[in-house]
Amino acid sequence: MSRIIASAGIRGAHSIAKQAKEIYAKAVSEKGADCAVEFPNTGYFIPIIYSMTGIAVEKLSDFEAVFKEIDSLLPALVDDDVWLPYLGPVLDAGMATLFAEEIIEACKYLIGPNPVDDLWLGAADDIILRERGIQFVDGTAPGFAAIVGAAPDVETAVSIARKLQEKSLYVFMAANDNGTSFAEQLIEGGVQLGWDTRLVPFGRGISSAIYALGFASRAALSFGGVQPGDFRRNLLYNKNRVFAFVMALGEVTDEWYATAAGAINFGFPTIADSDIPEILPTGVCTYEHVISNIPHDEIVDKCIEVRGLKVVVSEVPIPIAYSPAFEGERIRKDDMYVEFGGKKTPAFEWFTMKSSDEVKDGLIEVIGPEIDSVKEGDALPLAIVIEASGRKMQADFEPVLERQVHTLINEGQGIWHMGQRDIIWLRISKDSQKAGFKIEHFGSILHAMYHEQYSSILDKVQIKIYTEEAKVKELLAQAKQSYASRDSRLADMSDESVDTFYSCSLCQSFAPDHICIITPERSGLCGAYSWLDGKAAYEITPTGANQPIAKGATLDAVTGKWEKVDEFISSTTQGAVESMSAYSMIVDPMTSCGCFECISAVLPSTNGIMIVDREYSEMTPSGMKFSTLAGTVGGGNQMPGFIGHSKQYIGSKKFISAEGGIKRIVWMPAALKGELKETLVKRAEEAGLNGEEFFSQIADENVGADEEQILEFISGNGHPAMEMDEMF
Ligand code: SF4
Ligand code: ZN
Repeated sequence: MSRIIASAGIRGAHSIAKQAKEIYAKAVSEKGADCAVEFPNTGYFIPIIYSMTGIAVEKLSDFEAVFKEIDSLLPALVDDDVWLPYLGPVLDAGMATLFAEEIIEACKYLIGPNPVDDLWLGAADDIILRERGIQFVDGTAPGFAAIVGAAPDVETAVSIARKLQEKSLYVFMAANDNGTSFAEQLIEGGVQLGWDTRLVPFGRGISSAIYALGFASRAALSFGGVQPGDFRRNLLYNKNRVFAFVMALGEVTDEWYATAAGAINFGFPTIADSDIPEILPTGVCTYEHVISNIPHDEIVDKCIEVRGLKVVVSEVPIPIAYSPAFEGERIRKDDMYVEFGGKKTPAFEWFTMKSSDEVKDGLIEVIGPEIDSVKEGDALPLAIVIEASGRKMQADFEPVLERQVHTLINEGQGIWHMGQRDIIWLRISKDSQKAGFKIEHFGSILHAMYHEQYSSILDKVQIKIYTEEAKVKELLAQAKQSYASRDSRLADMSDESVDTFYSCSLCQSFAPDHICIITPERSGLCGAYSWLDGKAAYEITPTGANQPIAKGATLDAVTGKWEKVDEFISSTTQGAVESMSAYSMIVDPMTSCGCFECISAVLPSTNGIMIVDREYSEMTPSGMKFSTLAGTVGGGNQMPGFIGHSKQYIGSKKFISAEGGIKRIVWMPAALKGELKETLVKRAEEAGLNGEEFFSQIADENVGADEEQILEFISGNGHPAMEMDEMF
């Protein structure tokens, strides 16, 4: 290996460790050694330190133990002509650097400069981790590029970012090159930054690179079931499952070297545009460790090749770029050329099954005005009618396929879509219009993507797009009938009415011991997979993550156990879980990967339960915040008294029905309660209660977030839980 890298990396590590000691001393003198220290809303403490060493830093003085680790990892400084035969000391220096950089960033949260401002986002909280983590699970995001420094000019920066977006990668930005940062270059180039566009500006200094690596370390803990302190498994997990690399743009300083060495520990190689010494022997990373001197127009492809990423790019015949990374883009009114729906005009989308002779594959018709005949800023009525046939197509799949319209259309650059059915809202940006995008291209996208993703159930697809008000209204009446008949069919469906459930093992790539069992009355805990989705996914990919499970003999109708379901769980978790009940949170409750929309937890003294959703980050009556609860419930373990579940499940007749169901709910965050009001009232009526009264008996944070306060509130208001049997 190169001597210069060894000396530069080790020098950089010493320099960063020194800075960490200085800012730490300053923080202690300003705030006191007992001052609490944290990154906002995370259950993983200071995450790289926590995941690699197991040290749960809660107050400043806890860093003392971390400094000991740093000192023991830091190799002695070496001269440029000292030959190090293997990477070990440099890797240790890299890890020490990351610990020191985390200390620097954590202290900045206390004494400034604040890592978060108008541009920089600082640490990602656990909500973002889970939301974005799901994309790594389902493959919509293959990995991330950590860019340090800046491109030589704005144009090059924009071109690199766009190429990475087109490959669906996240772009994490840190550091600056002589005062210029990549993030600021993108802003200057008019590019939207933020988690939604996958272009994430972490911070201006090199130490903010730890936000990217901390994200990776937490992914191993939260999805991979890796224990804090088990650094070997954590690093292996990242090497094998998180596709990431560092792109170093500009002059590589000693401190950048040191940080890059930290990233090499994770198996993330560094690809640089400047002439720096290369580290080619493979071993820790999948391919090379450091390669240099790559021209800007080749650097994205080189990164992907070096890290061994398999990126599948869909070829959609439209004049704009197309990729999942564009899904989160917003189009403001001022940037919009034309819009549809959004209460301004009638608009809807409708997927309907036809017989083969009624569909001419590839037919795309626009009936009514095209974009050429509308003025900038206009609003048009819109009906997108997708007619499809296929030997394996079933009417049941219509809603599943229709829901894809949102994602598929949104992935066009400069196209924005919201809502579904007859509450949609679409915009085409001025830039896209200038690039030649037409209304007809909505059809091109849908035709290409339905064939690409659903070829096993769809043979022919045609799309008719109406932009004439009278015709749109006429068709809307038909579509509404179809929506209503679908809804009533779904409402009639119960766990008893089917003999097959579906599994979902999508999250096993991240949470190896977890499997979701999806029934008509209990959707997957992430909320993204209903029983119908499972059924459709199985037809689409028979060997995929959703497998049918014939229920077999009923073992226990109350807790919801079936012979074949238990056998399936036991075999797919390698015996880790032997039995699981669908309707109980006490007896063999279902496991969780970490993607749950909500967590329910027993509050023993109240004889009831609380439900908290992911959006609520304050303290709950269980004595834990969502992030801490998530750590308890996730990871594929059965935790009697706790379950992770979807929002849909709260409105199900089978919601913890073994324990008495909805009547047990004593506390929810006010926002969640408001969101589910209609459902809660209706379900309470069905359970023989006065719906409105029951709704008002459920406490929220305005009553308190302390079990005793909740008990006092519900004992005074006649809450039904008070009369029920004990839960355990
Ligand atoms: Fe993961 Fe379960 Fe959702 Fe499937 S249904 S993606 S396993 S949380
Ligand atoms: Zn999951």
